[in-house]
Amino acid sequence: MTDIDVLAAARVSPLYLAALRAEYAVHERLHETDPGAFAEVAQGESRIDATLIGQLPALEIISVMGVGYDGVDVAAAKARGVIVTHTPDVLNDDVADLAIALMICAARRLPAADRYVREGRWESGAMPLARKMSGQRLGLVGMGRIGKVIAHRAVAFGMQIGYTSRSAKPDVPYQYFANAAELAAHSAFLVVIVPGGSGTRKLIDADVLRSLGAKGILVNVSRGSVVDETALVDALERGVIAGAALDVYENEPHVPARLREMPQVVLTPHIGSATAETRGAMADLAMRNLREHFSGKRPSTPVPECC
Ligand code: NAP
Repeated sequence: MTDIDVLAAARVSPLYLAALRAEYAVHERLHETDPGAFAEVAQGESRIDATLIGQLPALEIISVMGVGYDGVDVAAAKARGVIVTHTPDVLNDDVADLAIALMICAARRLPAADRYVREGRWESGAMPLARKMSGQRLGLVGMGRIGKVIAHRAVAFGMQIGYTSRSAKPDVPYQYFANAAELAAHSAFLVVIVPGGSGTRKLIDADVLRSLGAKGILVNVSRGSVVDETALVDALERGVIAGAALDVYENEPHVPARLREMPQVVLTPHIGSATAETRGAMADLAMRNLREHFSGKRPSTPVPECC
């Protein structure tokens, strides 16, 4: 074991914690009582703000176990010469799998169908008809690493794919739309897969939901901050859109009671990358970044601002 101190600023998975403990002196959430720790480990939702960074005089690296790093004040870290790393790509498959699963669950009403059988209601008649997903129009808000993998899977379902992002991507064959509202107006399913943070806050607002329309289904596997949750609840209650499937929420782990009560909504507890295989790969990459940094090398996957 080295004499390097690592501060676990978030709840770290047991797998990752064991790997960290084998090599470093790990302080779990010690910053809450003793801010004099030395290096950082975080998850995408962790708040690593300028105040915390300022309290860690020997801080060298913030290693995020996740691809999203909207909780980290990267500008404050850079100003101190602290490098921020994350774990892109290794989770693309899992998040894309979940996005497709949520689309199917919302369209075919699988959670409701499961309850229908368990509660013995099948004995009194068939379930109401659901909606078809294959062959429908899919709008992807975000055409980055994960968006491209979702699109690839959706092609196999015969879906017609459109997308929006800050700029058009010449390397993909899908139709580009200038903004989320125009894309929504053209889509039966709208899947949100952009980063969180100030640039995307409430990108999916009442106007976008109106454009998606009464047959439209919204799927959010990005960050809760990207969708105006109040506008979403209102749109669902008034039938402005048909349904939603959500993995992320504005104030996790709290999910509004009105959302939890709606039968046309499918809810999962932020499990986009939550498989043993992928969390293992994420932990390996996060560890590799730390090892590289502490052996004087450049970490493999710095966030773009630190490249
Ligand atoms: P990425 O490769 O950086 O792609 C992000 C995409 O979002 C790019 O196409 C980008 O467009 C677009 N974008 C960024 N800001 C935008 C804006 N203001 N308006 C429109 N489009 C915008 O990221 P990724 O690896 O695909 O991951 C995306 C996000 O998924 C992560 O940041 C994370 O928050 C979330 N995620 C969630 C889970 C989960 O458990 N549910 C798991 C993993 C990731 P440009 O290329 O034109 O800039």
